[in-house]
Amino acid sequence: MIASNDDLKRGVKASGPIPNPCLSYWQRTTRAFPHLNANRDENVPNECLYVIIGSGISGALTSFELTESGVNGKDIIILEAREAASGASGRNAGHVRPDAFRGFKHYSTFHGPEQALKILANERLVLNKVDEFVRKHEVQCDFNLSTTFDVCMTPEFTAYEAEVFEAFRKAGGDVSHVKYYDTEEAQTRTRIKNAVAAYEWPAGSSHPAKLAQWLLNAAIERGVTLFTHCSVSKVTKHDNGESWDIHTPRGNVTTRNVIHCTNAYASLLLPQLEPHLTPNRAQAHSIIAPPAFSGPNTLGSTFSLRYDLHHFYSLIQRKNDGTMIFGVSRGSPNLSPETLKGCVTFEDRSYNEEILNEALKQWQILFPGKDRDIAGRDVHGEGLDHAWTGIIGMTADYVPFVGPVEGMNGQWVCAGFGGHGIVKLILGKEWGETGLPECFNMNKERALKLASK
Ligand SMILES: Cc1cc2nc3c(=O)[nH]c(=O)nc-3n(C[C@H](O)[C@H](O)[C@H](O)COP(=O)(O)OP(=O)(O)OC[C@H]3O[C@@H](n4cnc5c(N)ncnc54)[C@H](O)[C@@H]3O)c2cc1C
Repeated sequence: MIASNDDLKRGVKASGPIPNPCLSYWQRTTRAFPHLNANRDENVPNECLYVIIGSGISGALTSFELTESGVNGKDIIILEAREAASGASGRNAGHVRPDAFRGFKHYSTFHGPEQALKILANERLVLNKVDEFVRKHEVQCDFNLSTTFDVCMTPEFTAYEAEVFEAFRKAGGDVSHVKYYDTEEAQTRTRIKNAVAAYEWPAGSSHPAKLAQWLLNAAIERGVTLFTHCSVSKVTKHDNGESWDIHTPRGNVTTRNVIHCTNAYASLLLPQLEPHLTPNRAQAHSIIAPPAFSGPNTLGSTFSLRYDLHHFYSLIQRKNDGTMIFGVSRGSPNLSPETLKGCVTFEDRSYNEEILNEALKQWQILFPGKDRDIAGRDVHGEGLDHAWTGIIGMTADYVPFVGPVEGMNGQWVCAGFGGHGIVKLILGKEWGETGLPECFNMNKERALKLASK
């Protein structure tokens, strides 16, 4: 049984981003981004109409969408604690992978079946929106629309997926885009020798740092100013009682609209979120493909390989350069309790050796076919390329915080989610017009429910 977040979180206090994080594969391949360290020595203005905190995909998309909706870019600044897009958006595993049905049971338990259906429909919508957006704006972010496999690696997990699939379908969930394969076909289609069963549905992959950087660049071209290495320490009420003062090491900026796109770090500035938000360090690895997965053998789909709900591995293979990005869940029974406990942290300066070893071991089991030289070693240049970590903001009820911050007029939160719906709310539209499930809203009702958990 996996330890609860409350148990793991003991002793880990809210924090801002830690300086000098390690670089991910994505960051290592985008060092020439001209705005990477934008305005790092400049003071912030005294006033600005919209202040976005955080330059990940949420913050970048929020600034872009505000300008799309007619706000003058000159009225928007973005404050980023480290280099541009250096949080989870610059260090994830590259999947653009909707949950097709698996989360239905969990979401239903927390939010009821109606919201669970909306959450899963929203997942599918997000994939379509990303595809549409990338095509419309010709975003060079290596987006590759394909399919994904949920590979069941044990009979127990196969039974679990079948049960959830059926419950989702019976509740009215759309499964018309999901294909199921029994053992033999699953093994042929996925090329995973020990697969017991598999599901397949549309999904994609991208270069997340290129996507965030494209959004930031587009916003900057429209007049938005990004201040990097400018960490916000607090937000206080301005003397006039209506605006907010945002405190940074390079001066304070007064604003009517504060938009917290700070993901795992959100509770530093919004302490009311602290009991419900856990920083979770995830680790990913880039691997240079051996011949079994190169050239015409390159994998066309992405993967989630599951032994149980919490013990799984994820893989994408990039179409452009064939690099494979392999992720390890924190629920692996092969990891020690110390390593598991160490995953609840804001520390992303390095990676965990035990998780790396587990990744390489599983890699050989799941994707055999390495070339060996005469001494039995990997061919030089193939195999492990790089390992890195990043911090995920996990909410206790599995959905992000999106919407107005209750009791703090003019403050908005968009933590652990893309920035689309929030802009409609900021510009005065009703929740129904955002298309987001109601349970994403951090209102009093949700806070009470979370507190009673
Ligand atoms: C290893 C890993 C693998 C993942 N794999 C996937 C995947 O395959 N697919 C997927 O969809 N998602 C994945 N995720 C999750 C995904 O990356 C996030 O959900 C997404 O990037 C969140 O974007 P964001 O903009 O909300 O947050 P972030 O990208 O984390 O941005 C928040 C920003 O706020 C800044 N900030 C925080 N506090 C302050 C402050 N006080 N002052 C100034 N700036 C501040 C941070 O420095 C950061 O840049 C993964 C995450 C990790 C870490």
